[in-house]
Order: sequence, then structure tokens, then C-alpha cells
Amino acid sequence: MRIEYEPKLDFKDVLLRPKRSTLGSRANVDLVREYRFRHAPLRRPSVPIIAANMDTVGTFEMARALARHKLHCALHKHHALADLVAFFSPENRAENAYTFYSLGILEADLAKFEKVWSKTGGAIEWVCIDVANGYTEAFVDFVRRFRERYPSVALMAGNVVTSDMTEALILAGVDIVKVGIGPGSVCTTRKMTGVGYPQLSAIIECADAAHGLGGQICGDGGCTVPGDVVKAFGGGADFVMLGGMLAAHDESGGELEERDGRVYRRFYGMSSAEAMEKYAGGVARYRASEGKSVVLEARGPVEDTVQEILGGLRSACTYVGARKLKDLSRCTTFVRVGQQINEVYGRS
Ligand code: 5GP
Repeated sequence: MRIEYEPKLDFKDVLLRPKRSTLGSRANVDLVREYRFRHAPLRRPSVPIIAANMDTVGTFEMARALARHKLHCALHKHHALADLVAFFSPENRAENAYTFYSLGILEADLAKFEKVWSKTGGAIEWVCIDVANGYTEAFVDFVRRFRERYPSVALMAGNVVTSDMTEALILAGVDIVKVGIGPGSVCTTRKMTGVGYPQLSAIIECADAAHGLGGQICGDGGCTVPGDVVKAFGGGADFVMLGGMLAAHDESGGELEERDGRVYRRFYGMSSAEAMEKYAGGVARYRASEGKSVVLEARGPVEDTVQEILGGLRSACTYVGARKLKDLSRCTTFVRVGQQINEVYGRS
């Protein structure tokens, strides 16, 4: 047994120190980034925020709404084959240009992907291979095989939280390593297994490892307010994935519930009993659910939330003197804060 004593940080443990700057207006801040990927030849400028591949977030409607702002959406894994083929058709490029096709590592997942790929003439540009635990050899082997077969796609895969595994994945063919174990708003992995890693430190450490190899990372999970998205980018994330912050909108799907004159939408983790009931016929005997189900007040169109997030990012960039989102990490100095920040968030 070993203990690491070096402090590890979550978003709530820091603030960004304001800096003098020559920036006139937040309207001048450029949030679009164009990455050069380590493996894929794809070059597509975008705002590097991704809706999570959860079935009450990563919907076709969400992809269309976010694409209008050049934001990404990772579709959830359970869309019907015919719908995926229609969505990814080359004629539909305006809507699908920023959308990730998500899959797991089962042979059935691969077979479904292959069908969509061939029926659309290879029109898929972004792929997300997603497992809860990115530390298994089977996962790395799958990723390697997938990359050999599909050299053109921008490939995101995870989840991991440490630099060793970030490097291993990039060397196996991943362009964007998805980082986060346990920080999700409807995730119970930390409670059920005791496993996890404070998310801001995971981002900082994995970004450092990835950038050294010409790779990128996506901070996945734990953002609850626009300021957390700022901190993720400030810590070095190239992309940031959002579940809860984009849930409960008109485009998110999820059942509507009415109570006392108010409208709510159900939002649940993809490993929750609810999701497993829906897609796998229940929780298998050998495993426990690692996600929960919540109801959130319905929030209307996602457009308003997007504006709020982008507004927060632009404002943060002017506070620290970053003309572009690209410069935010370089301009970031985090100040460690103690208990008092929890009052800002209203958290205990
Ligand atoms: P959020 O933005 O809601 O904090 O986090 C979203 C992320 O939580 C997802 O992208 C995914 O990585 C993770 N997640 C989604 N469902 C589950 C689940 O049921 N269990 C766990 N452990 N993580 C989940």
C-alpha cells in the first residue's frame, strides 16, 4: 500500500487570479479553436465544448442546436442504426460536422459502427470510444485496432485520470483522451468503489502528459457552473464535456414530469439502475449500479444555457488577459482557496 501526500485539486478548491490586460471588450474574445491532431488529418475549427454521450443529453436535437454555435455533441450509444445513418449522411454535414459517434468496446458496438460507416460512405469524422474504466488491456487493444482500421477519424477515448494511461492511449492511436473518473453529477463511482481522482488535478496532469506527445485531452465531468468550465480550460483541457449542465433542456430528451405546477425532466447516469433497466434488461448480478437518477427543473431551450457558458468563458478571458480561448491556460494562475469558496457555490 502507498499513500500520495501531494495535494490534489477539484474545481471548488481554486479561483483564477485576475490580471491586468489590454483587452477592450469581452465581445472580442475568440472561443474558436482549431486543433492539429496527433493522428487524424481532420482540421475543423470549433468551440471545444462537447455535450456528453448520455441518453438525456447526447441527442440528435442537441447536436443540431449546438452545431449552430460550432459546439460538439457526443451522441449516446443507443440510437437506432437507421437514425444514425440518416444523421451522418454527407448531405447533412451542416448538422453533423461537430458530432461524435459514440461506441463501447463490444463486438456488437463495432459491428454497428461498421454498418453506419459503410452506409454513409465513411462520412463520420469524430468518434468517441467510451468505457467507465479506461485502464483495461482490452480497452487499449480495441482502441489500437480501431485506429488501424479508421485512420481518418478524430478519435476520443477514455476515461482515465493519470498521465501514464494518457500516454498509453495516445500512443495507441487516440487523438483526444477523455479524462474523469468519478466527478460526474449523476455518478456514484466514488461512493460505490472508493475510486476516483480530483478532477482539476486529473486535467492538469493528463493535459501535461498529452501535450508533450502532441495529443489533446477532454475534461469530462464535474462542471456545475460556467466558472468550472473556465477552470477546466484554464487547467489545460483542450475540450470540456458537459452532462448535467446541458441536461433538462428541450433538446435533452428525458421524461417530463409535472409536480405542483412545475415541470421537471429526469436525468440519469449511464450506469444507473434506470439506464441498465432500459438498455440491458436490468443490473447484472455481478455488478452494482454506479450512477443515480435525479429530476431537474426543465430549463427550456439549450440556447440560453450555451450563451451563459460562452459568456462566462469570454468574461474570464478578459479578466486574465486572454485574447483567445487558446491563451486561457497560459494566462491562468490558480489561487488555492479553502472552505470559503463553498459559500460561493452554496455547497457544504
Ligand atoms: P457531469 O457533466 O454531469 O458532471 O458529468 C458527465 C459525465 O459523467 C459523463 O460524460 C460521463 O463520463 C459520466 N457519467 C455519466 N453517467 C455515469 C454513470 O452512471 N456513472 C458514472 N460513474 N459516470 C457517469
